[in-house]
Amino acid sequence: MTIGQNLFYKGSVFFIFNFLLLNAITAQNHTPRFNEIDVQHYIFNLSLSDDSDIIKGRTIISIKFLKTLNEFHLDLNTKNETSGKGMVVQKIMEEENEIEFRQEGKKLYFSLTNLAQIGDIRTFSIEYQGVPEDGLVISKNKFGDRTFFGDNWPDRAHHWLPCVDHPSDKATVEFIVTAPNHYQVIANGEQIEETNLNDEYKLTHWKENVVLPTKVMVIGVARFAVQQAGYVEQIPVTSWVYPQNREEGFDDYSLAVEVLDYFYKKMGSYPYPKLANVQSKTRYGGMENAGNIFYNENSVNGNKDQVKLIAHEIAHQWFGNSASELNWHHIWLSEGFATYMTDLYIEEAMGDAEFKKQLIKERQKVIDFSKVSSVPIINTAITDYNDLLNANSYQKGAWVLHMLRKEVGDKNFWNGIRKYYESYKFSNALSEDFQKIMEQVSGKKLDLFFKQWLYFPGHPKIKKEWKQIKKNKIVLTIKQMQSGQHFTFPLELELTSKNGETFQKKVKINTTTQEFTLKVKAEIESIKLDPNCWLLFEETGLTIETN
Ligand SMILES: [Zn+2]
Repeated sequence: MTIGQNLFYKGSVFFIFNFLLLNAITAQNHTPRFNEIDVQHYIFNLSLSDDSDIIKGRTIISIKFLKTLNEFHLDLNTKNETSGKGMVVQKIMEEENEIEFRQEGKKLYFSLTNLAQIGDIRTFSIEYQGVPEDGLVISKNKFGDRTFFGDNWPDRAHHWLPCVDHPSDKATVEFIVTAPNHYQVIANGEQIEETNLNDEYKLTHWKENVVLPTKVMVIGVARFAVQQAGYVEQIPVTSWVYPQNREEGFDDYSLAVEVLDYFYKKMGSYPYPKLANVQSKTRYGGMENAGNIFYNENSVNGNKDQVKLIAHEIAHQWFGNSASELNWHHIWLSEGFATYMTDLYIEEAMGDAEFKKQLIKERQKVIDFSKVSSVPIINTAITDYNDLLNANSYQKGAWVLHMLRKEVGDKNFWNGIRKYYESYKFSNALSEDFQKIMEQVSGKKLDLFFKQWLYFPGHPKIKKEWKQIKKNKIVLTIKQMQSGQHFTFPLELELTSKNGETFQKKVKINTTTQEFTLKVKAEIESIKLDPNCWLLFEETGLTIETN
């Protein structure tokens, strides 16, 4: 996802703090359910109306049992008596039998009289209703029209859908939505039915045949103008915008066709049957919902200037949606990837100078963030997943990939990216899995590389000192000034002579202080670190140049 730009770029910490207060999201401790139950398929029947914000649901869920159990639970937010919001379950059935249940906080417990055995697949039907406190945003859009938009990231699906609200448990999904006739309904997968039931209501049925994590399962229900923007390898690309924004919206979102084409060629086949680009009420700048990306409603402006936002969300279809992190703390596998894939699209579409400019901006964000919060990318201390939406997950994650590309070379890098995707599509991975694939394709040991960039906080803060001791010799000292561990990395240098000539050298840094004697051909005027923009570092301290 892309964070609302103004909020994020002006300081993520402030944003997250406010965000918490406004939305009263509390930290959740997810005991991994991946060893108890495994959801196979969801059918979410939902009835929506204009008379109230109450949604009526009937969820049919098929569950495979991984343990012998007489009790298990799903995530579903119980009605809060003070706010009146939340879901009340009326009945749970398994075929003809009523199942005993109880709701406690965010959990819906099932009691089975008929014990579930390992390997059983059983199907339950859950009837419930209520006003969603979150997750399904029922509100008015900027033109005053009533709209309903799912906005589940990170684990807000359980506010309106009974589910296992964790990216490790993926399942196929159908949405069967009954809503007033004047709305159009978009959801994941392919539309398999649209029927006017009577003068008032319409039924729309969407079905996704590949597994998704709940964070990207959504519906969007609004008055829409819909246009076919094009096809990429038989994948239809459509634009869904507010009718009042019809012309500008179609024009703005048409950019998605060329972006999808680029990623398709680079990363291999697109995972879903369609790509719809939807103007919406998401709280984020953009949210990568599988096969139907929801962009914030102000992303439509008629300027066709949202290519980075569009590229970021499209890249997520491969990384994050299809190959997903197994657990939240590895979210850089989503956000770092989407950020760097966007940079690579910029490199392709706008050239090297624009690409470097983008990388330098991203490096600065990492440096700024490290001054506020000195934590590693993989930070298991975080219990509120919204706190993972920071420059470490996005920009530092992107920089890890950029440095990895230099470390293994372009060809190995792309082979590794494709192989990682092929190996983990429709599945889940941890950072170690990605490391293994990169080691296989490059034949290099990458332990230290991944350890220092993912598990150490910060980055090298480099102080350089140099002196020309002879006409053809300089002595260069490189010191790593950061507290904590030192980093190991190749460092490129650009030396400029007094008569304006430049030439480059490379040294290998593997300890705190190192001295290098470099051969030169002329009197040196200056030395620039990392002239080709391949290193995440910060230059610090006084530079002592004695000639
Ligand atoms: Zn993202």
